[in-house]
Formats: sequence, structure tokens, C-alpha cells
Amino acid sequence: MKEAKKSIVVMKFGGSSVKDVVCLKRAASRVVSTKKAGHRVVVVVSAPGDMTDELIERAHAITDNPDGRELDMLMATGEQISIALLCLSIKTFGIDAISLTGPQAGIWATDVHTKARITKIFPHKVVKGLNTGKVVVVAGFQGLNPDEEIVTLGRGGSDLTAVALAAALNSEVCDIYTDVDGVYTTDPRIVPDAQKINQISYDAMLELAGAGSQVMQARSIEVAKKFGVKIHVKTSLKNKPGTRIMDEKGMEEPVVSGVAYDKNEARLSVRDVPDQPGVAAKIFSALAKESVNVDMIIQSTAQNGLNEISFTVSRQDLKKALSVLEPIRHKLGAKEVFFDDRVAKLSIIGVGMRSHSGVAAKMFSVLADAGINIEMISTSEIKVACVIKESEGQKAVKLVHKAFGLGK
Ligand code: ASP
Ligand code: MG
Repeated sequence: MKEAKKSIVVMKFGGSSVKDVVCLKRAASRVVSTKKAGHRVVVVVSAPGDMTDELIERAHAITDNPDGRELDMLMATGEQISIALLCLSIKTFGIDAISLTGPQAGIWATDVHTKARITKIFPHKVVKGLNTGKVVVVAGFQGLNPDEEIVTLGRGGSDLTAVALAAALNSEVCDIYTDVDGVYTTDPRIVPDAQKINQISYDAMLELAGAGSQVMQARSIEVAKKFGVKIHVKTSLKNKPGTRIMDEKGMEEPVVSGVAYDKNEARLSVRDVPDQPGVAAKIFSALAKESVNVDMIIQSTAQNGLNEISFTVSRQDLKKALSVLEPIRHKLGAKEVFFDDRVAKLSIIGVGMRSHSGVAAKMFSVLADAGINIEMISTSEIKVACVIKESEGQKAVKLVHKAFGLGK
């Protein structure tokens, strides 16, 4: 009888878990234990430490507006350092390992430089490595576009590589190793009594990630949900369970699971635009064409046939958004484009909100009692988000976290 195929485990190590020799050895020993436990192991790694930030800084030291292709070429080098060093480290334990770049691992993506999306994976080289008994170490965050150019997958994109590979390889679990114990009810640096969440649904995690919880890249959770990849986020420092991200079925979740806080926001308002069909379409199509992601959108009621359209973008897209908006403002005859880059977004998240009323009202009351002004509001079935002044952000997070009983 043929021996049953051993299960594939995908292990992803973030930048902090491969930042130096000590960390690399620790990561390697985890990989080796998993391999020795009888699994076939695929590892995905990020660039060491803050290397991606440093590489971007180096490009910006040369020019304000680096060319996307060259920026991708540069950024992709960070992960390549990690794969080679981790393989060398795994080999010192007497286990064979092979490093593969994203393109070598068969990862194809769309052509948008610095923000590409994975379109398909042909992992034959990965499978070949596994079939010859090797640990396969893949560079996260990178793929090949239809022009066979290297593209990167957006910041934090190694998570996406790991989850997409887990889906393509039909692996049971995708373990995400990081420098925190798991996903917390809010940022423990702001609220010291924040607690680790043991289990969370894809939807709630998606909102937490999208709302600025830095633990995992939002798109990777979308892909995990789509393909049913179970994720386990845990620390690479200790051997203990972290947070499991999975299907909501059969899972008890509190009304509010967490409070997310995102300082990386800028608010833009196009003032005195004519109140007529097609205005919003023009503004947001132009932004979409330049790949500027827009988050909250508010259009105020028309007065004298004029509207104000306000929305938020991430701070790094602000310059680009302003340059896209200027000619449109002119064409529409709008008075001005106003911006404020000292705002922050505070969100409460939980699938339990679906069946509870008064959750939003409670959040607004807490902010009101503290004299904190809400500049914008958006809601979904499982989220209430408010834009407030960045200077009041930390205080707001603490108060809201406490009000919903999330602390220890
Ligand atoms: N190194 C890339 C970044 O810092 C990808 C990742 O860490 O997941 O964004
Ligand atoms: Mg990183």
C-alpha cells in the first residue's frame, strides 16, 4: 500500500522573526520541529526587520516619486535575503531546504506595481522540493506580472503569499509567526490591559485588519476566507497557542471583539461641487484609476445646488490623491479641495453586533462624554468606525475599549 501523503503545513515568519542570527536560528528550529513531527513544510518569510522601510527610504532619498518597476525590483530583494539565510540556518540542523523567489514558486500577479494581486499559483517547483524531502522556503510579498516583471503585493504582503500558497497546496493550516502572542482586543501599547483573542471569525478579523490592526494584511484574510484556510497567528518566541482565525460557524463571539485604531488616515473634502449626476463617479473613478484606495465617503446635503464630498485615504496616498483631484476640481468648478492629515480612525468590531442594537449609540456616547468630536462615521453589519482628531485618538481607544468591557 502507498503511504498516505503527509499533510502540508505552511509556516510564515514576519520580519521581526528573521531580523538577526538569533531570530533566524529560532525560526529554523521551529521549522525543523514541524518537519520532524512528520509534516511537509513550506515556509514563507518577510524581509528582515524594517528592511522594506529602509529600502523605500533609500529610493526616496534619490527621488520623491520613484518609478514603480524599480521600486518593486528593490523591495523584492529584502525577502530574498531572508529565504537564503533561513535555508542556511535550517541546513545547520541537518535538514535539507531550498529557497525559492515568488516567481520561482509560480506566483503570478496583476501588473500594478507595489500593489499587485495574486492571480494564480503554479507551485510545481514547491511540490518538487517537498517531494524530494526538502523544506521549501518561499520569498513572501512578490510575484510575477503578465509581463514577467517582478511585482510586490502591497505592504504586509507576505501574509498573502502564505495564505495563497496554503490554499494552492491544500494545506490544513497556515501558521503565522510574529512578535506578538496573537490578535489583541486593541493595541496593547495604547491599552495595557488589552487581551489576546483566542478565536475570531474571518469577517471580524477582516475588519480588524482593515481598520488598522497591524497583525495581518487584510487581503490575506479575504483569501483565507474565500478558500477556507485556517490561520493560527502566534508568537515565534514561545511555544503557546495564539489566535485562531476561522469560520464563524459554531463559534461564540462577543458583541464587540475588538477596537481598532488607525492613524494612517487623511481626510479630503471637495467643496462646493455642483449637485448633479456623475460628480461622484468622476471623482472616485479618477482616484481608482490611480489605485488610490478610498475608505469612508460622506456627501453632505446639497445647499444652493452645491455639495461637499468628503472621504478618507491612507496618508501615503494623500499627495497622489491631491494631484488627481486638482484637475477634476477645476473641471467641475468646485471651490477647493481641503485636506487634514492629522485625523485617525477608531472602529469597534464584532459579528455579535448583527443581533444587538444600541452598540453604535454606546460608542458615540462614550466619545461625547469625553468631549471628543466625531468628524465622520461609517457603519457595516459588524463595524462602527469614527474619524476623530489624531490628538484625541489614544484617549478615545482607552475609553471605548473599557466601555465595551474588553479589558482584563
Ligand atoms: N516586507 C514586506 C513589508 O514590510 C512584506 C511583509 O513584511 O509582509 O511590507
Ligand atoms: Mg514586514
